[in-house]
Amino acid sequence: MGRIRLLPDEVASQVAAGEVVERPASVLKELVENSLDAGATRIDVEYHRGGDKYLAVTDNGRGMDREDALLCIERHATSKIRTGHDLAKVETFGFRGEALPSIASVSRFRLITRESGAPVGTEIAIAGGKIESVRDSGEADGTRIEVRSLFYNLPARRKFLRGERTEASHIEHNFHVLALANPACRFSLMHDGRQTRLLAAAPDLGTRVRDLFGADFWSQLMPLEEGGQDGVTLRGFVGKPGHSRGDRSSQYVFVNGRPVHSPAIWQPLREAYGTALPRGMHPPAVLFVSLDPELVDCNVHPAKREVRFRDARAVAEAVRQVIERTLAAQRRVSVVTSAKVFPEPVDDAVDAVSAPVLRPEDVPPADTRPELRREMMERVLSVASGKIEAPELAIPDEARREVAAFRFIGTLGGRHLLLEDHAGLVLLDHRAARERILYEQVLRQMQSEQAASQRLLMPAIVELAPRDLAWTCENLDVLARAGLLVEPFGASTVKVDGVPPVLSHHAPADVLLRIADDCRVGGTGSRAIDEAVARSVSHAARMPEIPETAPEAYALLDELMACELPYTSPAGRPTMIHFAHSELDRKFGR
Ligand code: ADP
Ligand code: MG
Repeated sequence: MGRIRLLPDEVASQVAAGEVVERPASVLKELVENSLDAGATRIDVEYHRGGDKYLAVTDNGRGMDREDALLCIERHATSKIRTGHDLAKVETFGFRGEALPSIASVSRFRLITRESGAPVGTEIAIAGGKIESVRDSGEADGTRIEVRSLFYNLPARRKFLRGERTEASHIEHNFHVLALANPACRFSLMHDGRQTRLLAAAPDLGTRVRDLFGADFWSQLMPLEEGGQDGVTLRGFVGKPGHSRGDRSSQYVFVNGRPVHSPAIWQPLREAYGTALPRGMHPPAVLFVSLDPELVDCNVHPAKREVRFRDARAVAEAVRQVIERTLAAQRRVSVVTSAKVFPEPVDDAVDAVSAPVLRPEDVPPADTRPELRREMMERVLSVASGKIEAPELAIPDEARREVAAFRFIGTLGGRHLLLEDHAGLVLLDHRAARERILYEQVLRQMQSEQAASQRLLMPAIVELAPRDLAWTCENLDVLARAGLLVEPFGASTVKVDGVPPVLSHHAPADVLLRIADDCRVGGTGSRAIDEAVARSVSHAARMPEIPETAPEAYALLDELMACELPYTSPAGRPTMIHFAHSELDRKFGR
């Protein structure tokens, strides 16, 4: 008899603390979320060592009056929901009123807060859940919470803390996640008295991503196409094909602004990339999924890390669809300015390695996504001009891994390389691959003005139709940067003094006519013209013989995989076509 007893409040808090507060990083998360809920636009985080000795969060939010300050450290004291019904549509980060009392019960805790305009603030000191002092404070408006000696009174939990480095890395991770989810808020981070991060309030997510992770990571990302379905919308950034990691450490997924671990989202995200990434590799991603709060239950995990969707299939479908469209659009980015060159429709049973196969109706005018094009080109160009480190070229590791995924079998008809990868047979179109490589090379050379030109022994005088003449005379410098040296020469003629060496097998007049004709219909704007010229050059170029030996084949693959868009030719055709084992089995009627 009499075995069941109500736990004293203090013990109940400690038990709850075990759920909410796993480690210093979870304290950080709870405190920063409270600051955000309080409308802060500036949040300063400071911690020592692994954060268990000392961790403090200071904000400029709305603060609390004394009554609220005393109340907020009581269990289930929250200003955010009032009824069970509210629970179904929480839009604030917190709602359980559990975090502060839990943290205060397992640490030496100090809360300093002041409502804006209040004559005086409040400072409350608590140790192990017991209030030690309450007094006036003269600190600035907002709230500061200091947590020292985490778990000092719970040796069993202390033991679960890992090394300083590990705990610090969890803190950094949570800081990243919170900063990503709230670009408009200014954040700073101090570790052991040194400021390690200062993130200005950012106008948009992209700026925050770049500020936080640097230009290299940023350059590996592409913005998601707008959209979603069934009330599920997505925004953010995902990795360009060819950029991947062996784990999910560079995936940041949020549902209604909360960071989550969600296989319902991870899976379609990875699947949408198909064979565009090597097996076992994951794309980097900063993904914000939004849906009606009533359709998500974020109350299944104590730290709210996991969510349950009412309709997980719809969420997965929306994710897959948006990512697939984004990848398709990315491929189009490289598609000709003169959108007249369409890829041959490929047999349905056959998948281009880079997932969806482009069809004529898929190919919009190349200027569909001017920002994207611009961003990509800027990147290619700044790499070429040495403005930023060349991440593309500097990540041979990644390329290696992709190359290593292919085994060279032989050649076919002098036109195709036969390769094997983990999933089946790959046919590589030698010409398309060479064109892709040359195209990117010419473009880089044009930007750095290092394109070679082969001087003609006898300058060629070329007569041009008025349209071609006008275009040529307007673009003499572009042509020169590509190695085609042209000068006006009389009424309707020009003089050609040099041609790109890769085109030296053509008559100079043909080279010029061809380029003028290809490029005239293309876009205006210097980049579009550069691209058109590079495309035209690569299209007309004489290419090396098809590799016959494995080392030559791997060298070619190496070069191809180091390209910005290895899976498509400059004209938007696939460079590789994949025949999955399952597909072959089907064809053999297995
Ligand atoms: P919850 O966030 O679930 O409501 P907490 O224990 O985290 O529970 O916080 C309790 C209450 O204390 C909050 O509802 C809020 O009213 C108040 N509070 C906590 N932190 C702050 C802060 N930084 N600024 C203003 N009010 C705060
Ligand atoms: Mg909270």
